[in-house]
Amino acid sequence: MEKNVDIVVIGAGLTGLTTAFYLSRNNRDFLVLEEKDRVGGVIQTSHENGFTFEEGPNTGVLGNPDAAEIFEDLKDACKLEIAGENVNKRYILKNGKWEAMPMGLVSAVKTPLFTLKDKFRILGEPFRKRGTDPEEPLSGLVKRRMGNSFLDYAIDPFILGVYSGDPALLLTKYAFPKLYNLEQTYGSFIGGSVKKMFENKSERDKKATRKVFSVEGGLSNLTNALWQAAGKDRFLLNAKNTEIIPSEGGYTLTGMVNGEKFTVKARKVITTTGAYALGSMLPFVDRNLISPLEKMKYAKVIQAVLGFREWNGMPLDGFGGLIPFKEKRDVLGVLFLSALLSGRAPQGGALCSVFVGGVRREDLFAKTDDEIRTIVAREFTDLMKPGKFNPDVFRIIRYHHAIPQYGAESREKLEAIDKIQSMHKGLILGGNIRDGIGMADRIKQGKLLSTLV
Ligand SMILES: Cc1cc2nc3c(=O)[nH]c(=O)nc-3n(C[C@H](O)[C@H](O)[C@H](O)COP(=O)(O)OP(=O)(O)OC[C@H]3O[C@@H](n4cnc5c(N)ncnc54)[C@H](O)[C@@H]3O)c2cc1C
Repeated sequence: MEKNVDIVVIGAGLTGLTTAFYLSRNNRDFLVLEEKDRVGGVIQTSHENGFTFEEGPNTGVLGNPDAAEIFEDLKDACKLEIAGENVNKRYILKNGKWEAMPMGLVSAVKTPLFTLKDKFRILGEPFRKRGTDPEEPLSGLVKRRMGNSFLDYAIDPFILGVYSGDPALLLTKYAFPKLYNLEQTYGSFIGGSVKKMFENKSERDKKATRKVFSVEGGLSNLTNALWQAAGKDRFLLNAKNTEIIPSEGGYTLTGMVNGEKFTVKARKVITTTGAYALGSMLPFVDRNLISPLEKMKYAKVIQAVLGFREWNGMPLDGFGGLIPFKEKRDVLGVLFLSALLSGRAPQGGALCSVFVGGVRREDLFAKTDDEIRTIVAREFTDLMKPGKFNPDVFRIIRYHHAIPQYGAESREKLEAIDKIQSMHKGLILGGNIRDGIGMADRIKQGKLLSTLV
């Protein structure tokens, strides 16, 4: 197969699909190369025994207008679903017991999650000095401004929930740029958040409601709608061993599709794959520039999906429960999905996801599926009190490269990306190697990428 196109996009996960969707709306000539036999990347919705569940991400946050707008742009092709009210209640495990995460002043004073000293200490947060080290890890910033118990029982479990990571290894400037800027701009989280509440927002910015979202019927309905709207014939699935080399007027891409060689010539190439795929795909790029990308750490995560036709356990009246590392448990947390989203479990039943592994428990990733099942059954029974542990669905899903960690290599990595792009005109490196790990970040970047070519 030989083809000439203007733009090639590599990877048909949420980022690549978003780029393709907006390229097609702008009548651009493009082709997407995807090595798997399906689109969606880590997003995959499955149906089993009357349950609808996700094998990758479960919910996102409408953290920017682009994430809200993609649903407007797709019109009726798929429907945004905002999570129900339970989303506002979140549990944190302390001394083996679930405690509600405080959501207001009174509950913040009463909560046993934080020490009395840190509760008083927080009153002084607006008066504490700004940080001066742009390479400061998140743990350092939180300890400095809020105290150890906030780090251990608020931030640490939150980081497990978002990055499956370690706050001592994530740099705030790169992993949580909004938080970093809040301190740098306003000098305080509390003061900055209050001031921001009173700032005038444009109509567009108001779309970033920070509401928790999914898609009616599952997230694959979003990725399939993007695939359809971008034009299915513009996707080459099963495109393996893609190699890119510079050639006259752009780049030549070669690889194998269904046992046959393909050659595609393009003026511009956008990659949206993980960092681990870039080295072999870009053999012409200086290895010293590829190396900081290859140094990026990814959290290894196992998701166990549990469906019960009849639920007699702890009331599922929240988003879920997160487990601080200090609690020394073998699971990271439990999401109460049927309490948030419609149609996920049969009436009277329950759908939960349990997460295992992460950056600090890579040892668990080496265990067999049977060993993981035993661990999940033991932990879930103790934490959620289902009575007899007899799930109707029990799926184990593994991700070797679940979530990239924006750690110590971040500055060097971003500089390397800039250098690669300026040395090789027409080559753009996107994907979750930069600009955020959440679904809303991916949509925002995917849309932006479509405007850079
Ligand atoms: C277990 C898990 C839970 C998550 N939970 C949440 C959550 O709760 N909320 C949230 O907002 N986000 C969550 N995320 C993150 C979110 O899912 C991702 O950031 C997003 O889906 C990534 O999309 P992407 O297109 O950038 O990457 P991917 O989905 O990884 O897509 C990359 C694509 O590139 C393809 N590819 C790779 N190499 C090549 C190659 N050489 N040639 C051709 N194609 C190639 C891959 O097959 C894949 O299809 C979670 C992720 C995981 C794994």
